Amino acid sequence: MTYVLSSSIERLKEKIRNIPNFPRQGVQFKDITPAIGEGQFFRLIMTIFISRYQKKKIDKIAAIDARGFIFAGALAHSLGVGIIPIRKKGKLPYKTYELPYKSEYGEEILTIHQDAITKGESVLIIDDVLATGNTALTAALLIEKCGGNLMELGFLAELCDLKGREKLFPFPCYSILQF
Ligand code: AMP
Repeated sequence: MTYVLSSSIERLKEKIRNIPNFPRQGVQFKDITPAIGEGQFFRLIMTIFISRYQKKKIDKIAAIDARGFIFAGALAHSLGVGIIPIRKKGKLPYKTYELPYKSEYGEEILTIHQDAITKGESVLIIDDVLATGNTALTAALLIEKCGGNLMELGFLAELCDLKGREKLFPFPCYSILQF
């Protein structure tokens, strides 16, 4: 287990920028680009994710469209496992399962390729931000629909006031930063 100093976590937290009223009025957007734009912070994020998941039984990592791809790709490479894109409707070319959900921004539909998972595979879901939890829960249900066993959902940042973690219960949930 890699030991990460709490001062490093605090410095990483300061690299997440608040953008009020984006993409619409009333949403306090957590902009992760200052954090991922600096090598030392991107590496810190990935070191924490890798240290948490390297000893776990994971067959595939499911990445949520679109910022989840950034972390899931790097993590799948490090762990030597496959990556599954979970995308907004209309983006995946093959046969899909789809589920509608309500996001902070409005009505959306998430999709997954029907053959993305072999029954019984252990799957980790990765995304950048856990807000209301609707997106992550929809992704979790799609993994189950494909026959996968969801081992955990991992996030860079969690907006605790929105109680997404409660919505995801009993699925295990992990976040590096809490706001
Ligand atoms: P939710 O379904 O409300 O948990 O929203 C999570 C998804 O929307 C993630 O894919 C995030 O990238 C994005 N998202 C929602 N709210 C925010 C926010 N306040 N700041 C940054 N990203 C957000």
